[in-house]
Amino acid sequence: MKKAEIRKHYFLDSYVIFAPKRNLRLHNIHEDQKEELDINECYFCPKNLKDQKIIQDFDNKKYPGIAIIENKFPALTPDNPKAFGKQEVIIETPEHNKELSDLPLEDIMRILRVYDQRIKELKKLKGVRHVLVFKNDGGKAGATVAHAHSQIIALPLIPPKIVRESDAVDEYFLNKGTCPHCDIIRKERHSPRVAYLDDNVIGICPYASSNAFGVWIMPLKHQRTIDDFHGEELESLAKALKKITGKLDDAGISYNYFFDNSLDLESHHFRLKVEPRINIWAGLELGTGMVINPVFPEDSAKFYNS
Ligand SMILES: [Zn+2]
Ligand SMILES: [Zn+2]
Repeated sequence: MKKAEIRKHYFLDSYVIFAPKRNLRLHNIHEDQKEELDINECYFCPKNLKDQKIIQDFDNKKYPGIAIIENKFPALTPDNPKAFGKQEVIIETPEHNKELSDLPLEDIMRILRVYDQRIKELKKLKGVRHVLVFKNDGGKAGATVAHAHSQIIALPLIPPKIVRESDAVDEYFLNKGTCPHCDIIRKERHSPRVAYLDDNVIGICPYASSNAFGVWIMPLKHQRTIDDFHGEELESLAKALKKITGKLDDAGISYNYFFDNSLDLESHHFRLKVEPRINIWAGLELGTGMVINPVFPEDSAKFYNS
């Protein structure tokens, strides 16, 4: 078994302790079964959507099979000056028992286009400073409904975590004259940490990943938003997402993914981060901000390529 190792993030001041567990068997993770709601009770199934505030229905001609509704229990609302914002849910398929990874590529491409469209719409709202797209899949990832969906939140401020990372990206750019993520791709594309690679898109298990099986999906070219992905490039992004989430679904692993690029600044490189939820944050993590990860990224990449 490999020895434990402390690794530093590519360009941020953060550290991860890799400490392989002797018996981390993937089938042990299965206890995290999603709560299976009856179709009659599921409020994301088409027949139950009637009384929801529907922004776009499943039979929308441009994006058939996808519905967008207002979040039924939003924390942030446009009419609350003390917690201003907007929350939407994107229901990825009318079918109750399908995962995102079960959908054909064209459907996943349509979902990606809907993300782009909703980000643009929400950014137009007065008072909105930041928009985040994310997905919670499985109980450990915070999902409360099994029916495949993702979420969008429009915030009245730019979260400090995002400001810090943005500052670090800009500092790197000023010092070296290059984008840190373009440099990471150059360094990593021939490394044992590649989980997905084609002519347009790469999936990297980061050198100091804070999550077991964590992957950053990025375009090989310096592209800032989904809007910059055309034809084949968008198909590549859909393929990468299907492969990565499919492996996690097959192993019964809960995951979150989110867009990490949403500032849309020149120096920013599009990143879709997939963060599986295996490691539990305990006293060490809470007390130091340093995370213990039981799976080296080289082994995570092997899992995706197996
Ligand atoms: Zn359903
Ligand atoms: Zn770049």
